[in-house]
Amino acid sequence: MSFDYDLFVIGAGSGGVRASRISSSFGAKVAIAEEYRVGGTCVIRGCVPKKLFVYASHFSEDFEDAANYGWTVGEASHDWKTLLRNKDTEIDRLNGIYHTILSNNNVELYESRAEIIDKNTVRVGDKKVTAKYILVATGGTPVMPDVPGIEHAISSNEAFHLEDMPKRVVVVGGGYIAVEFAGIFNGLGADVIQLYRGEQILRGFDHHVQAMVAQEITKKGIDLRVKSNPAKIEKADTGLVVTLEDGSVIETDAIMYATGRRPNVDGLGLENVGVETKPNGAIVVDEYSRTTADNIYAVGDVTDRIALTPVAIHEGMAFAETVFAGKPRAFDHSDVPSAVFSQPPVGSVGLTEAEAREKFGEVDIYKSEFRPMKQTLTLGSERAMVKLIVEPKSDRVVGVHIVGADAGEIIQGIGIAVKCGATKEQFDATVGVHPTLAEEIVTMREKYTGE
Ligand code: NDP
Repeated sequence: MSFDYDLFVIGAGSGGVRASRISSSFGAKVAIAEEYRVGGTCVIRGCVPKKLFVYASHFSEDFEDAANYGWTVGEASHDWKTLLRNKDTEIDRLNGIYHTILSNNNVELYESRAEIIDKNTVRVGDKKVTAKYILVATGGTPVMPDVPGIEHAISSNEAFHLEDMPKRVVVVGGGYIAVEFAGIFNGLGADVIQLYRGEQILRGFDHHVQAMVAQEITKKGIDLRVKSNPAKIEKADTGLVVTLEDGSVIETDAIMYATGRRPNVDGLGLENVGVETKPNGAIVVDEYSRTTADNIYAVGDVTDRIALTPVAIHEGMAFAETVFAGKPRAFDHSDVPSAVFSQPPVGSVGLTEAEAREKFGEVDIYKSEFRPMKQTLTLGSERAMVKLIVEPKSDRVVGVHIVGADAGEIIQGIGIAVKCGATKEQFDATVGVHPTLAEEIVTMREKYTGE
């Protein structure tokens, strides 16, 4: 049976674009559908604009620090509209690059919504096309809980397009996005209250990372309130009134929810082809990203494995090799390094202490907490932390956690060592780069015995 395409990809984000480009390089005839803008969450309303905002917000602290290094810096002020305009220009540029990638790789782009009709047919706009394989890479979307007045709240999607920079902001949530945006708004001069329903932010991270980030962001001026959650949001003449579950009231100009994301599966037609989903909508896949329908695959956030762009890219490449290069490859989801661009940032790879104890019983901990060198001449009190978790029988370093400037940059290299199964002895045999924060990773000799 012949089809219009060998592969039809739904969703032109990181995973979909990479899978289509690599599949095409293996000789497949490929089309991709995108209903919004090519580039996906990461490029259009995620990692990229977020990181630009983090850079923008950090300047306020840099200006303060500069004085003690001898600089006289004039009165600093920030123009939100300039930031937005320049950010939009950059996003447009990247969007253009993604279009070029698709056309240079002979991937046909349909700029409309797609729906699966049967296992080989997709409706895209007012057309029906057929394909031997279908790949779903539709990503995720913010979850806004059912709180009275939630219509007055924004998600990260809208935060990238606010007309004015709010003077007072409430951020709800304690995950990646909440922590990053609380830092962004704080650095740009807003009074920020971060509300988290649980005991400690960054659930799932190593407990020392959680505590350190909570301590450092509080020192920088974020009013972090744990065991706190809004009960209702009302509009008032002077802004928004947020009543918390404990009855206390906060007045604010904006309230941003960063309370998780859910897979984009609505209206995809998955039920037409027997593609199974989990209760949260995530598409069930095997280690090759194959769904419960034989010729239909899914990669990226829509599968809710690890919701990170580079993971989606790897899943997309493994899919292309498996299906179009005759080299079945299951992407290994262990030891994925990641960063939280909080201020200070976090870099983590491997197991947390709790996970390592659960898995191995006994573990050795090496931990160093210190004042980074840059702070020695400034009035800043920011501290940094480096922590290693070692499995004593094999001497393997099974987890590395860093809080401090450039933690995201540092953890990338450490991720290679951990992925390669490096031992503590090999870390110790590595010469430190002096004077850096990162040298602590290879200079810690005393086991940490505290909590
Ligand atoms: P997360 O799942 O990381 O965090 C969601 C937060 O919202 C948690 O603190 C959660 O609390 C809280 N929450 C959930 N539901 C409610 C509710 N009904 N009321 C109040 N609070 C609630 O999601 P994010 O939205 O921050 O990010 C989504 C994903 O995007 C991340 O998991 C990550 O994979 C990815 N991402 C990665 C980034 C990076 O690599 N730097 C940056 C941004 C996003 P609780 O802990 O109690 O469940």
